[in-house]
Amino acid sequence: MQTRINKIWDRYFQYYLENYAPPDINKESGLPFLRDMLFISVLLITIPIGILVYIPSILVCIVTNQVIIGIFDTLAVLVIILLYLLKNQSIIYKKIIYSATLYVLAIVILIYLGTKGPAPIILLCNSVMITLFESRKAGLYATGINSVIYLSILALLPVDFEVMAFFREYNFITWIGVSLNLIAFNAIVVLAVSSLVDKMNKSFLEEKKLQLLLEKERNDLLVAKQKAEQSDRLKSAFLANMSHEIRTPMNGILGFSALLSETEVDSEKRQNYIQIIEKSSERLLNIINEIVDISKLESGLVDVNLRPTCINEQLRFVHSLLKPDADEKGLRLSYTYSLNDNEATVNTDVEKLYAILSNLVKNAIKYTDHGSIDFGYVLKQNPVAEDKTDPTLVEFYVSDTGIGIPTNRQEAIFERFIQADIADLQARQGVGLGLAIAKSYVKMLGGTIWVDSIITKGSTFYFTIPFRAD
Ligand code: ADP
Repeated sequence: MQTRINKIWDRYFQYYLENYAPPDINKESGLPFLRDMLFISVLLITIPIGILVYIPSILVCIVTNQVIIGIFDTLAVLVIILLYLLKNQSIIYKKIIYSATLYVLAIVILIYLGTKGPAPIILLCNSVMITLFESRKAGLYATGINSVIYLSILALLPVDFEVMAFFREYNFITWIGVSLNLIAFNAIVVLAVSSLVDKMNKSFLEEKKLQLLLEKERNDLLVAKQKAEQSDRLKSAFLANMSHEIRTPMNGILGFSALLSETEVDSEKRQNYIQIIEKSSERLLNIINEIVDISKLESGLVDVNLRPTCINEQLRFVHSLLKPDADEKGLRLSYTYSLNDNEATVNTDVEKLYAILSNLVKNAIKYTDHGSIDFGYVLKQNPVAEDKTDPTLVEFYVSDTGIGIPTNRQEAIFERFIQADIADLQARQGVGLGLAIAKSYVKMLGGTIWVDSIITKGSTFYFTIPFRAD
């Protein structure tokens, strides 16, 4: 039953809001919104109850010959119906007209029926409603208006108007007592109601704050959970990949060592086995070095040792070191530089520069099946140089015609354990640490690293270091 009435009420309220809502009604949740909704509820309840009460009231007026009260009663009901139907009036205007109508009605009833009629209760309810649907200040003003009404009656008592027959029972002193009591109780109720509203509003705001906090914490937790899950997934992939990466060369070393120990191996085969063992050991050493490097970086044990370094020499060194690997895959490996040897001295950490460059060239060879790899450097103007006396950068590049990297992975590959295509893990050697180490080194040298790549066409990795010639 209760829910049925609630449903009917909700539908009625919604209907009114959709068809007659004042244009400036508050739509944001919070106290102003609740106050406006309360006013609408009061207006909506007044219509059926007002009409219901109007019929017996008007009958009583006819029987007791109270024509004026009857007229004002009728006017009040008409004004409130009009107020209900008005579409383009602001909410404050509706609130004022509603309260003023009740004031006029209460004054007329007070004059004709004295305190025995419903006037004091209408005045009290009006001030409480104003407190609820407007503010404490407005409620206190309403109490002030009530006081003025009661005290004006006090001023009119000596005049002895015929209409104010009910007041003949009161002398001046009694009416002072009665009206002061009415005013005092009025003020007490308004203050009590407004402080209740204040407290409820405070706890509402507090709850909202807590809700926002909770929501934020929930989101943070969700992000942390996703990160933990991702890191878990990456670590599992890393471990799986790593055991494969270690097992393959290990098997190579053990297997070919066993073959070597067989007596009837001819010298050509022996040479071949030794080469395989050497390559496998190199691969193993490479993995161990990468793991040692990343753990040193993570525990902050890596220092930068700047010293004058000929960058051309580094290019030549990397080229000579990795040319056999490129030749083995049928790839052209070339390098270009734009400065003469005597101008190409940069104050940098040679070990790290070598590590970055060789890692990028090794990757280029690893991820290219046909074509060529070119690497080198150009001098660039540093757009955000703080030191205006040294505005140049050396921008290194390593360009290949390899498999390329999908756009959505081009940032991630610089993170630890991340490979551009996890599914492709077994296809190429590596554990996904090389670029993370290179990125940390580039940062330590004061530069940045990035990649431009088109899938199946090739990639160009770039990194910069400051050009310090001294
Ligand atoms: P890995 O040991 O797996 O090579 P890296 O950190 O060096 O680890 O590289 C991360 C991933 O970036 C690689 O797994 C590969 O998917 C991608 N990548 C790196 N260099 C290239 C390249 N030149 N061409 C295509 N993909 C590359």
